[in-house]
Amino acid sequence: MTGNALQFPISEAPAMGEPLAVAAGVYWLRMPLPFSLNHINLWLLEDQHGWTIVDTGINTKACKQLWQQVFDQHLKGKPVTQLVVTHLHPDHVGLAGWLCERWNLTLQMSRTDYMTCRVLMSDTGKQAPQAAIDFYCRAGVSEQQLKTYKSKFGGYGKGIYAMPDHYLRLQDKDTVTMADAEWQIIVGRGHAPEHVCLYCPSLNVFIAGDQLLPTISSNISVWPTEPDSDPLKEWLESCAMLQQKLPADVMVLPSHGQVFFGAHQRLQRLIDGHKKSLVKLVDACAQPQRNVDLFSQLFRREINDDVLTLAVGETQAHINYLVKQNKIQSNTADAQGAVWYQTI
Ligand SMILES: [Zn+2]
Repeated sequence: MTGNALQFPISEAPAMGEPLAVAAGVYWLRMPLPFSLNHINLWLLEDQHGWTIVDTGINTKACKQLWQQVFDQHLKGKPVTQLVVTHLHPDHVGLAGWLCERWNLTLQMSRTDYMTCRVLMSDTGKQAPQAAIDFYCRAGVSEQQLKTYKSKFGGYGKGIYAMPDHYLRLQDKDTVTMADAEWQIIVGRGHAPEHVCLYCPSLNVFIAGDQLLPTISSNISVWPTEPDSDPLKEWLESCAMLQQKLPADVMVLPSHGQVFFGAHQRLQRLIDGHKKSLVKLVDACAQPQRNVDLFSQLFRREINDDVLTLAVGETQAHINYLVKQNKIQSNTADAQGAVWYQTI
């Protein structure tokens, strides 16, 4: 079982929009997501003068209504004074602009994720560029899948309220004061370009974002804008770095799933899982394979149109890692434009 080394101190997650205290001045707030991943965990941190919000939920009516309920019922008459966003995905940053307007806040975020978010949002309403179409052709997707991809292009921005035009940069080793305690920024990579995690030594609490999740493994993807990137290497290095930096008994507040103990074991399991997948891919590539042929080695679930780009991206992340390690090599594209990989 995935979680057998982990401990979950809070057996039941809070109801949507109902903050639950998990440490001194730290509250767990759950919001709904309109995906198969049906929720996100956000964090509210209280001090004498006001509240810090960590992550925002996606830009939907349901999330805005829940925020209004929190503002009306749970802030004890104090304002929201800070907003920190862990990374650029719409479930985390979706309502940042709305919250900044509502409370006159300055968004705090890493530079790479803030800038990348602004760039990706500018794709909304545009047609899929040739570079992206070529990327999915090289992976071997079908005509039908490509058509669907083109029709959904620019969807990222639809989950995000207009972003604030300025922000405050957070970077690795910075500190932020929240809930009257000092939190160290630890930047992780691989899932997002510059993912902000927050570690509080005095509370022994780690706000992990998507950098460390208890039961699902975070998506590690290569995207068409940077087709030769090696996010899996960055992810594995980040896992090892977190094992070094975090105490074994830290309480982890993840963005999805339950609050847990067992950070070191979970990080090791994530590292081992990817290493096992890499071995499987090398074995499978004894016979030439395209990206799409390798899904069955990496994913237990059926890959439908909803998750196709995530599956291609994650498979390409494993492929690029192995190519850079000289374990597999690519042949020139076939008549359909697909690239075949073979073990060296
Ligand atoms: Zn994410």
